[in-house]
Amino acid sequence: MNEDSKTITLPALESALANDRLVYYYQPKISLVTGKPSGAEALLRWVEPDGTIIPPAAFIPLAEEAGFITHIARAMFPKLIADLLIINDVNDSLVVSFNLTAQDFESSEMTDLIRGAILSSQFDPARLQIELTEASIIDSGKPVVRERLQNLVDMGVTLAMDDFGTGYSSIDTLSQWPFKVIKLDRDMIRRMNDCPKSTAIVQSSIRMAHALGISIIAEGIETSEIYDFLMQEGCTEAQGYWMAKPLPMAEFLGFIKKDQRWSGLPVGLIHIAQLDHIHWRKTIIDQVVNRSFDNSGSSQVQRFTAELDHTKCRLGRWIFGLGKEFKGHEAFDQLEEPHHRLHEIGKELVAAAERNAPHAEMAVLLRELTRTSSLLLSLLQELENQAAF
Ligand code: C2E
Ligand code: MG
Ligand code: MG
Repeated sequence: MNEDSKTITLPALESALANDRLVYYYQPKISLVTGKPSGAEALLRWVEPDGTIIPPAAFIPLAEEAGFITHIARAMFPKLIADLLIINDVNDSLVVSFNLTAQDFESSEMTDLIRGAILSSQFDPARLQIELTEASIIDSGKPVVRERLQNLVDMGVTLAMDDFGTGYSSIDTLSQWPFKVIKLDRDMIRRMNDCPKSTAIVQSSIRMAHALGISIIAEGIETSEIYDFLMQEGCTEAQGYWMAKPLPMAEFLGFIKKDQRWSGLPVGLIHIAQLDHIHWRKTIIDQVVNRSFDNSGSSQVQRFTAELDHTKCRLGRWIFGLGKEFKGHEAFDQLEEPHHRLHEIGKELVAAAERNAPHAEMAVLLRELTRTSSLLLSLLQELENQAAF
């Protein structure tokens, strides 16, 4: 147990809140695609009159147990919004996240506060992100919590799953709740140093996030080696002491004004886009060939599962989503046309297979498909070369 937590009582915490002793510190997040700050996480600190700083681990569990956490969240929210407006004036592309618990959504007050701030303030709701741990969602388990969160998501706020990888059935929750971001837990990142299994879990979590079309941020980056590793693997953002510790508001503003840059080598992302495309091509060719060239007499009709809409396949979601970071690179700007064409050929192929078109006709289409696919892959390769230097 922490030194401070021995003496912390609920009345002391109530008095600290009433006397404005709780403040937000801001820990910068860095985009691994651009190498520039992309946002910050607001983290509570209790600052005593003598300057002593009490960390959240010393009072959040007590506040949660006593049901006082929602009072803190509500009382701190206007301060967060005031800070957010200042931060946005310095850099209007940053996303500020803050931590809530599912308890905060069991009544409508928190949702009303957030909705009110969005409706009355001059900030883009996409600049506000809520971090929730899966544990708190499971503990709450109330359908109304999900409804309220969905309402906020519909207004443009993003939702991040905090401490991903710390147990529970995260994948199930991810598919049922409107999370747009996964935050890899800092203990799992730390364990990568001496546990190959943790490394494999981190790598596959990154792949899974891309497959689901959501962003992935790693916290607890303490060395340049871990930073570089995550960047190569296609993780999209990073937060950790190696770049910056949580900073008081004034220092945080100084930090973003400095316009610092870390490395941003987005080859991991491009590599995943290449793999996604190869997977798509393999699926469609397999299915079309099975249907058209199958002489087994099987009565089972082949279903076509490859995504035919060029904006909805994984590569398409990347081109119109995270990939947009590469706009202006010649190879990226040339991708869209052949990718669209590829899907038109895909549709023709599926239609031809369904009407049992002659093999010669199928072969022409298949060749056109693979030719266009090679062109796409060479553009992605060129982009990788351009982006790396
Ligand atoms: P969290 O939301 O997972 O926040 C990340 C924690 O990791 C922060 O600890 C941050 O200082 C720490 N951290 C970031 N980078 C590194 C690193 O490189 N190395 C190490 N060792 N640690 C790093 P902090 O500020 O002590 O907060 C701890 C937890 O307290 C938070 O974990 C969050 O669960 C909770 N918390 C903080 N503020 C609030 C709040 O406003 N409301 C609620 N409900 N919980 C909060
Ligand atoms: Mg957090
Ligand atoms: Mg966390």
